[in-house]
Amino acid sequence: MSIDQQSQTPPVDLPSPETSAVVLEARDLSVWYGSTEALRQINIAIPRNRITALIGPSGCGKSTLLRCFNRMNDLIPSFRMEGHLEFDGDQIVGDQVDPVALRRRVGMVFQKPNPFPKTVYQNVAWGARINGYTGNMDELVERSLRRAALWDEVKDKLHRSGLDLSGGQQQRLCIARTLAVEPEVILMDEPCSALDPISTARVEDLMEDLKDDYTIVIVTHNMQQARRTSDMTACLMLDQDRGDSHRPGVLAEFSPTDLLFTTPKDRRTEAYITGRIG
Ligand code: ADP
Repeated sequence: MSIDQQSQTPPVDLPSPETSAVVLEARDLSVWYGSTEALRQINIAIPRNRITALIGPSGCGKSTLLRCFNRMNDLIPSFRMEGHLEFDGDQIVGDQVDPVALRRRVGMVFQKPNPFPKTVYQNVAWGARINGYTGNMDELVERSLRRAALWDEVKDKLHRSGLDLSGGQQQRLCIARTLAVEPEVILMDEPCSALDPISTARVEDLMEDLKDDYTIVIVTHNMQQARRTSDMTACLMLDQDRGDSHRPGVLAEFSPTDLLFTTPKDRRTEAYITGRIG
């Protein structure tokens, strides 16, 4: 980049795709489950080292879009998509792409904490082990648990079942398990919806801490959570222009979170955030 270009570059803390490299991108993405169209013509560029929230009414395709980014939908037989998906400029879909390798780099945390019925240690070590990790496993487990803000609470319980932890601790254990595989992106599908407010706050603090090193994309039905945690927000809506009984999800707006919640550009976003569309 020339000095001239640099001088015109906005400050780096402006959370817009223009000022931060794009890590995930969907272009003209449409998705069907059988004959039902779930997403229509989605275009979105997710910036690196930012938290991007996906909001919108139930059934508008937030989870579907999230799962496209690490090909979790491949596991659903009726799933079909058209369009382009890229991660770090490479195709996400194609014969040459190994979905297991992709999921190593684009990890996922689910709505309900889902630790394995194994020890805390084994939960964290599992992914690294099956991926052939040859380093010091004790160090990796400790590092991952520290990174997930859980170490102090479990360091004396490493060989107790992960299922004995509280719900909030279990979710941070699942985050530690994801981190142990050393992904670049963490997809979170309503990660706090099963948690109490204190556990939710801890996960939100953790997300803020993690974004220096990771890109986070979070689906949330909680607009306050999107507002508190994210830099960018994508608001998906059911396509109102379609009279069919089933309406696909479309992207109404993708903006810096502050702007989306204060001066939304799209009337559908405004209707949603003010509670006029549920
Ligand atoms: P959201 O996360 O916004 O609630 P989803 O992505 O879960 O929306 O769902 C979008 C649409 O796709 C809905 O109409 C839903 O019923 C449908 N859908 C989601 N998953 C499946 C599936 N496994 N099989 C069939 N239809 C599905």
